Amino acid sequence: MKIKLWGVRGSLPAPHPPHVLREKLVGLVDDFLQYQKRTGQSDIEQFMQSIEPHRVSGWGGNTACVEVHSSKQRLIIDGGSGIRPLGEKLMGGPCGVGRGEVHLLMTHFHWDHVIGLPFFVPIFVPGNKIHVYSVQDDAREVFETVFKKPMFPVPFDRLGAEVIFHKLEPRKPKEFNDLKVTPYQLDHPDPCWGFKIEQGNKVFSYCVDTEGIRVSPADLGEDLPLYQNVDLMVFDAQYTFLEAAEKVDWGHSSAPVGLDLAVREGIKRILFVHHDPAASDDKVFEAQKQTQDYFSARLKAAKAQNRVLTPVQWEFAREGMEIEL
Ligand SMILES: [Zn+2]
Ligand SMILES: [Zn+2]
Repeated sequence: MKIKLWGVRGSLPAPHPPHVLREKLVGLVDDFLQYQKRTGQSDIEQFMQSIEPHRVSGWGGNTACVEVHSSKQRLIIDGGSGIRPLGEKLMGGPCGVGRGEVHLLMTHFHWDHVIGLPFFVPIFVPGNKIHVYSVQDDAREVFETVFKKPMFPVPFDRLGAEVIFHKLEPRKPKEFNDLKVTPYQLDHPDPCWGFKIEQGNKVFSYCVDTEGIRVSPADLGEDLPLYQNVDLMVFDAQYTFLEAAEKVDWGHSSAPVGLDLAVREGIKRILFVHHDPAASDDKVFEAQKQTQDYFSARLKAAKAQNRVLTPVQWEFAREGMEIEL
């Protein structure tokens, strides 16, 4: 199973404004000159490798969209602005000639998860079939609203592709060839459903958007399996730990909450996403450093008590990341 993150920003697309790009460039040129002086080297590629990736390319500005595929099946989770470039890629295959079939799972319908839909080109190509899956009953109504004048010039009933809506049952698995998808409820102001996707013994859990209010096994109850036997979890870390404490009921979490869950449940790897649109690249990096401090403190405390913490591999995700399980 391969997973590609086409959008890791939360709430609203957040492209770099020109002055930020200029500042980045000035900083990099300055660092390169220092690097040259220090090392006597002038290999640009080598210099780039010595720089934190976010300083060069940032974390990404597109909102929620994830592609999950095996050799037999492709699934898309959410239609944030990241679905636009994914649509461009799909147009190079059967979608480009009206013989494509797209399977789109929707967590919920907040703007950042639907904003890319009107720019998903395969939906305009006659002959394509776009299957939309959600636990919620109102997916059709949402699509009709998104594709509606005066917000968008092409109404839903004039889309070229056939859009077919399917209802998912809470906590009931649905098979898509060799991929098994089970929706579990997350902690979000409007109902939002995360997805556990299994292929054989490989497990991917998508836990966005969530505040992570329920963390104990008892509180998670029937939603606990979303966090069990997981190889890779994508988790909502819109805020720093302090911000999350202030923004109660805003529906988003912070990395330490995901880390604690992962340590307890033995989750092998986490990617933190849904970066705040107001957070600069440096601020997201700072949140990553704070998380490292938190994790180091936990490791130290465990060592002092002669306990061994489950090893968890984690990082803040950048747009375009691809992981193979
Ligand atoms: Zn969101
Ligand atoms: Zn949301």
